Amino acid sequence: MVDYVFEPPVLVAVPVVGRADQFPVRRIFCVGRNYAAHAREMGHDPNREPPFFFTKPADALVTGGADTPYPTATENLHHEMELVVAIGTGGTNIAPAEALGHVFGYAAGLDLTRRDLQDEAKAMRRPWDMSKGFDASAPIGDIATVASIGHPLAGRIALTVNGQARQQGDLADQIWPVPDVIAYLSRLVALAPGDLIFTGTPDGVGALVRGDVLAGEIAGVGSVHTRII
Ligand code: MN
Repeated sequence: MVDYVFEPPVLVAVPVVGRADQFPVRRIFCVGRNYAAHAREMGHDPNREPPFFFTKPADALVTGGADTPYPTATENLHHEMELVVAIGTGGTNIAPAEALGHVFGYAAGLDLTRRDLQDEAKAMRRPWDMSKGFDASAPIGDIATVASIGHPLAGRIALTVNGQARQQGDLADQIWPVPDVIAYLSRLVALAPGDLIFTGTPDGVGALVRGDVLAGEIAGVGSVHTRII
């Protein structure tokens, strides 16, 4: 039994649809530019350059439809509506054909971004951490298990803000589908149970202001709801 100099932080967990027990979160990985139309809207050629990843801290999650505080240090907070993969079984060098066997479930999530800081980081060739991994930067809906929904490799992904359509796409349009994302990422790190992977956003990203009500929906998966305060 180890004693700590102060009370250790509470483990971050995400509710699971239809179950009383929750999904304990280890790390959050995110894929950049995984839909061609979004890559183009950000000024890039979507010709299947290898996927690249960035991270957010686990305690950036906002669960249960709670409000999201507008972050400090930005004047251009953007929404990115994404499918989130919840890893249930870890591994390294996972083959694409085996990858889906490592998935516990799926959720709808938002990769909130300080776009002004990200633009500056890109221009200065600096890291993205403070544009992506800030407090409350990852609202997420409840996780639906593979046992209940299977693997959603196609289907509508959409976000409304104050009831107005903002983003709309189809999971089938991902440049790197979920099995490839898992395979690539597992070559870079040893994936572990509790890891979440945000799999990229379709086009239509845009700015948020305080008071905005966000409702994201992924067909066959679930939804994510939050209000910017
Ligand atoms: Mn994203």
